[in-house]
Amino acid sequence: MAQDDTHDPARRSWVDSANDPACDFPIQNLPYGAFSTGDGAVRIGVAIGEAILDLTALEAVGLVRPGGETAVFDQGVLNPFMALGPEVWTETRRQIAGLLEAGVEERLRAPLEAALVPQAAAQMHLPVFVRSYTDFYASKEHATNVGSMFRDPENALTPNWLHIPIGYNGRASTVVVSGTAIRRPLGQLKGPEDDAPRLGASARLDIELELGALVGTGNPMGQPVSTAEAYEMIFGYVLLNDWSARDIQVWEYQPLGPFQAKAFGTSISPWVVTRDALEPYRCPTPPRERELLPYLQEATPNNFDIRLEIDLAPAGGTPVTVSRTNYRGMYYSAAQQLTHHALSGCAMGPGDLLGSGTISGESPESCGSLLEMTWNGRDPLDLGGEKRGFLQDGDSVTLRGWCEGAYRIGFGSCEGTVLPAPEAPGAPGD
Ligand code: MN
Repeated sequence: MAQDDTHDPARRSWVDSANDPACDFPIQNLPYGAFSTGDGAVRIGVAIGEAILDLTALEAVGLVRPGGETAVFDQGVLNPFMALGPEVWTETRRQIAGLLEAGVEERLRAPLEAALVPQAAAQMHLPVFVRSYTDFYASKEHATNVGSMFRDPENALTPNWLHIPIGYNGRASTVVVSGTAIRRPLGQLKGPEDDAPRLGASARLDIELELGALVGTGNPMGQPVSTAEAYEMIFGYVLLNDWSARDIQVWEYQPLGPFQAKAFGTSISPWVVTRDALEPYRCPTPPRERELLPYLQEATPNNFDIRLEIDLAPAGGTPVTVSRTNYRGMYYSAAQQLTHHALSGCAMGPGDLLGSGTISGESPESCGSLLEMTWNGRDPLDLGGEKRGFLQDGDSVTLRGWCEGAYRIGFGSCEGTVLPAPEAPGAPGD
């Protein structure tokens, strides 16, 4: 879409808290989520200021009907709405902005106010049924840091990196919403000096700050897509923490890539910020160091200027901001990743989640993983007295993201706390 009157900075809402300039959810944002209150039924809503507008209720009384005769907000997940496609997403955004605007018709105020729920009274749920999860590796700084640590500082990037958006197929079944605790994983561990692996709890539990792209409309199996088409296929974006067990990863990853080190939990933020809302913050990817094959080239700026932060807090302790970075430096856009993903004929569709890869800048204070910030534990972080190389049980990690301009397009936060490892399965007969 182009920018339209939904991006007008002058617009104000009759929901007062949405007009605070520090608010993540002004009338220009309108991110979608799934929530419940006392009765437990999961409903779809948009965040507005400190409230949620209940779209499931508004659809039932006919005030929004994106699917025409077919209800799409009654399933507790966004997939049916996402499947309707970009024109419906844009039109629905325009309509919801009209309903929330100061000066909306007086006769609509009562039903709209009845559909307003305080966020403080709501429990958030996974906003989409995540059909598949693919994780990429698109930050050149991150790939260079990891390559320097584990391979060769002189040849930190693998020969394919400047030509292909590198990725692997992850686990959709353990993608969870912010606030879900993450249990420390068990795995096979083998240090460089050990003769044989042993079973144990990961001692190098890490985070990865990423942005998740949610595919809305798909491509049929066997049918690739252009970067322009891929851009339009993406419904929206969430914050994503790709929890990682470095000690499990280093032993298992050759030759097929990450497996159990990444399979135990992936957290996403509850509010899906739409691509339409991000339109004013589009920016190009960094200059190419090698010319890309034509199918990966982009005619428009498909990256976004999104500020990101990571807070880390020990159990009962004060959170410390350990990283500040920006999505804009990513070498490959989500549209390029999706184009490459579909190139072989792989079918993509509503609810497919693409992780951007760890978002790292050039300094340790702008890295997206503890692995990089502490250089594999060598330089522990100081959390007001407590030192951290990797995560300890009880630690909480919170990701935050927002775009800053004439108004703030916030992502809210993505939080998770580490629980102790489970008891290990024993030998047969134990
Ligand atoms: Mn990752």
